[in-house]
Amino acid sequence: MKSLTFEAVKSLLKSPKKIVIVTHVNPDGDAIGSALGLRQYLIQKGHKSTVIVPNDYPKFLKWIPGTSEVLNYEQNTALAIKKLKATNLIFTVDFNALHRSGPMQVQLEKNIAPMIMIDHHQQPEDYAAYTYSDTNMGSTAEMVYHFINQLGDLELINKEVGIGLYTGIMTDTASFRFPKTSVKTHRVAAHLIELGVDHSEIHSRVYDANRFERLQLMGKALSNLIVVKSLNTAYITLSQAELDACNHQKGDTEGLVNYGLSVEGVKLAVIFIEKKAEGTVKISLRSKGHFDVNHFARNHFDGGGHKNAAGGKSELSLEATIAKFKTLIKSHKKELQ
Ligand code: 5GP
Ligand code: MN
Repeated sequence: MKSLTFEAVKSLLKSPKKIVIVTHVNPDGDAIGSALGLRQYLIQKGHKSTVIVPNDYPKFLKWIPGTSEVLNYEQNTALAIKKLKATNLIFTVDFNALHRSGPMQVQLEKNIAPMIMIDHHQQPEDYAAYTYSDTNMGSTAEMVYHFINQLGDLELINKEVGIGLYTGIMTDTASFRFPKTSVKTHRVAAHLIELGVDHSEIHSRVYDANRFERLQLMGKALSNLIVVKSLNTAYITLSQAELDACNHQKGDTEGLVNYGLSVEGVKLAVIFIEKKAEGTVKISLRSKGHFDVNHFARNHFDGGGHKNAAGGKSELSLEATIAKFKTLIKSHKKELQ
């Protein structure tokens, strides 16, 4: 793939294009907010733009402007492939390796359209014609804002663009709480609010949209929380049976891992979620300070992410995965103290 300079990207975007925006599998607030914010901007600039998600995403994000136009690859594969074949340019947002696009990977590898990566995860792979990677950024959505600004199009950021971007920034910084939230982040957020973005409404739409059963699942997760005091580690398990008992839906387990990190002294928090249908255990890891969960997930659980927030999976049983984890953390005792 021929690589592009920023100037070349800028000039490509000067004439109307058919553009596809792709997120990672199981898209979160940052992926969806970045993709939809970017889409609104591209439309205003005169392009045709389609967001394709590899699979479904949580209901609490299905209100952002442009939601009804999102194409789900898993549900509508033929149409998605048609769009990918007809596209002149592809943006990939909020992921750093093509395999993160799950079932779309094969199509993206075949594609002849140049790809532009906008992402903040560590160790980006070299698949895009233009890579905009900044691991110091707290969200991809903030990067989309800077990208548009760099293109000289700040005035094209309006309320509709802003709603997506604000949602991405808010969710990935855990409401402006994580250390990568900077002065710059707050300036971007302030600008979006000036444009008419209702920060309070967005917070409410995302975080006050619980079903009763989700709260019950949260209760189950909290009662399953185990703290290994000597290793400053906390972990939660949710078995398939426990998930089923609470009529588990997409997005229900999001954020639960953070409760472990709220225990005084805890530096490493993990949640293990059994996925019987896939024969895997989904793992989310969070840390405070030096312990690098990106490395840990890469080395031991077929995953990755950021230094303080990463994910992975295991093909062992839930019990065997936990046993493996307990053995592993013992060998990291020094870093965890
Ligand atoms: P979560 O635990 O919320 O699923 O993911 C935490 C962070 O790690 C997110 O930024 C996510 O994109 C990334 N991540 C989650 N799972 C994986 C994985 O399997 N591989 C890689 N490279 N990153 C992941
Ligand atoms: Mn992100």
